[in-house]
Amino acid sequence: MNRAYNFNPGPAALPFEALQQAREEFADYRGIGMSVLEISHRSKEFEAINDETQTLLKDLLSIPDGYKVLFLQGGASLQFAMVPMNLLAEGRTAAYVDTGSWAKKAIKEAKLIGEVAVVASSADAGYTRIPDLSGLSLPSGAAYLHITSNETIGGIQYKAFPDAGDVPLVADMSSDILSRPFDVSRFGLIYAGAQKNLGPAGVTVVILREDLLERMRRDIPTMLRYDVHAENNSLYNTPPVFSIYMTGLVLKWVKAQGGLSAVERINREKAALLYGVIDESGGFYRGVADPDSRSVMNVTWRLESEELEKAFIKEAGENGFVGLKGHRSVGGLRASIYNAVPLEAVQALAGFMRDFARRHG
Ligand code: PMP
Repeated sequence: MNRAYNFNPGPAALPFEALQQAREEFADYRGIGMSVLEISHRSKEFEAINDETQTLLKDLLSIPDGYKVLFLQGGASLQFAMVPMNLLAEGRTAAYVDTGSWAKKAIKEAKLIGEVAVVASSADAGYTRIPDLSGLSLPSGAAYLHITSNETIGGIQYKAFPDAGDVPLVADMSSDILSRPFDVSRFGLIYAGAQKNLGPAGVTVVILREDLLERMRRDIPTMLRYDVHAENNSLYNTPPVFSIYMTGLVLKWVKAQGGLSAVERINREKAALLYGVIDESGGFYRGVADPDSRSVMNVTWRLESEELEKAFIKEAGENGFVGLKGHRSVGGLRASIYNAVPLEAVQALAGFMRDFARRHG
């Protein structure tokens, strides 16, 4: 079978092994004569999948005791609202770092719920870098500090996380969770839509520190309450069963790769290949992000003209490369190189980029 060179930003490439295993057990899950899609979410088979997927995530991310892992719906976009609905009490202020498209969407939703302070921004730099947060000052009694660990559209990523002191640090990790090891204990809440590094669309992972549950608002709709989902082991209502199952298969694959340190090593190698081509192109390719904020997951670059960018996408398509068009809001080019994008695909893209530069430079 001929797998495409898939650089889609999300939904994105999944490990072939996970797809194959899903195919093998699709119509008859482990001899029960039914598909995972056909059984109750309260069956022992699905409860085992739900629990195992949680355990795998806890192991891979070394999530300490005192945290809950939830599988929710509504995408990361619903988390933009759920975070302030649950955590932003009357009279408090939520602090946000503005790093680009996704941070702005999170800020917009939070403003609908309560008081928001944008405590740092790289707007004046055109969102080409993560702002310097070393002297960060937070409003007194801040409810939380929200960051976007990787801006999927701009292609910028935190290399170190800010110190929020006693204020809970909240992170949208949709596009870089599981790409590198990090210290979960520094965070109050982490959320991520699954459709990049975790699995298929349809499930959103939330990792939250249990003590925050006690402080949460309870005067909001039941489905939007973290405490309700936590008490019900994410089975308050019918969960996205197939997405959770597929996420479990992806997590098993990550484990088989050697876990996050191994995955990070390969991710860095992949990113270095593409940034290397950009840097060595003598200005033919222009990287969008400042070198010290460059994302290891989403590599963004421009060419001299939009015509040349169109020609690049066209020729890339003819050569089997998919998903390289930049987000419609910013244009340019973007290669999303999540965990499941094989090194060989990135090597092939680097080769194509060099060849294209030679022919058009
Ligand atoms: N945050 C980030 C960083 C994202 O990349 C995305 C999706 N590309 C979202 C939030 C929105 O996610 P969803 O489509 O799951 O709502």
